[in-house]
Amino acid sequence: TAATVAAAPEDPLFGLMKAYREDPSDKKVDLGIGAYRDNNARPWILPVVKKADDAIHNDPTLNHEYLSIGGLAEFTSAAQKLIVGADSPAIREKRICTLQTISGTGAVHLGGLFLSKFHPQKPAIYLSNPTWANHNQIFSNVGLTLAKYPYFSAKTKGLDFNGMIAALEAAPQGSVILLHACAHNPTGVDPTEDQWKQIAEVMRSRSHFPFFDTAYQGFASGDLVRDSWAIRYFVEQGFELCVAQSFAKNFGLYGERTGAFHFVSAPGPDAAPACSNIASQLAILQRSEISNPPAYGARIASRVLNDPVLFKEWEADLRTMSGRILEMRQGLRDRLEKRGTPGSWDHITSQIGMFSFTGLSEEQVLTLRSKWHVYMTKNGRISMAGLNTNNIDYFAEAVDSVVRE
Ligand code: PMP
Repeated sequence: TAATVAAAPEDPLFGLMKAYREDPSDKKVDLGIGAYRDNNARPWILPVVKKADDAIHNDPTLNHEYLSIGGLAEFTSAAQKLIVGADSPAIREKRICTLQTISGTGAVHLGGLFLSKFHPQKPAIYLSNPTWANHNQIFSNVGLTLAKYPYFSAKTKGLDFNGMIAALEAAPQGSVILLHACAHNPTGVDPTEDQWKQIAEVMRSRSHFPFFDTAYQGFASGDLVRDSWAIRYFVEQGFELCVAQSFAKNFGLYGERTGAFHFVSAPGPDAAPACSNIASQLAILQRSEISNPPAYGARIASRVLNDPVLFKEWEADLRTMSGRILEMRQGLRDRLEKRGTPGSWDHITSQIGMFSFTGLSEEQVLTLRSKWHVYMTKNGRISMAGLNTNNIDYFAEAVDSVVRE
């Protein structure tokens, strides 16, 4: 009966957002939210998205019919090209299949569900420690066993590369390894290209299966090709792999739930038929979960991705967002160094993407909240997009004060 269901704990991030909203202070700073904000701390509608949106509203041929189970075909084909490159042999050889999903979350879920149902060994999925908190929930909900590999070094505030490699070597042959393609959430720490090559080498020797999660392509460095380098490298190396792709951040389409799940099979004579079988099974899973994906965000993204002029404008918008974030990284580091705030702060600029793992302790985070009205997650993660020229001095002063306490 209903009375047997206990209340669930509040989602920590949504709890933080609520506390921020309810704080009456005019000094308050929101560094929790994982969404881009402009220099006035307001959501930003990308100008190119506004254009595509206007065109959609003026298009008399559009209606509100269902999309197909796999989603909008112009969108999924463009999403493929964006992630592996238009000239990728995976596309030419028809060994990549794609379904439109409920943003990145839905793509991670569909991939997890597929592996859980169809992988003959049902291997454990290895997640970086730490990782996006939802990974744990999504994969355990579909019945996969979770395992961890070391990722972040508290000492260097960078990658624990040796720890990661050792764990990949020790993981049972054929494990699934979840990899953040760029702008790792929550740490902002990415492997270098050379480190990715070594990761690929170990994964090949252990026959591990790469499961890429990409939520920040173009948003991290401002360069779409650079931010998909790791995925393209693994595809080039002939891996069988899958990719969960989100368009929430790079199009600012958070609430429209626009994403894609891709499966790439390894090159060979069976690759294309295998991929087509997989697509048919994914469609059955999709049918029972959501029937078919939402149209609106995919229409916007598809218009931009398939129009060379709009695509260029999109790249400029991506540089606007990533450029502002890079400026805030530099600005924060400069201010802390100028104040002589104890500790080293170079990690603020070496980390990339939406988030920075500051290294602040939980106690310091709580003091920042109670005394300074600064809101961030307890692990010391800050959303760089929450900083702007109006609050960066105040935030640096606040950090300086709690670090010296
Ligand atoms: N993966 C990672 C690593 C993320 O950071 C996010 C966004 N927070 C997502 C997936 C998916 O987000 P969405 O469902 O909004 O696309």
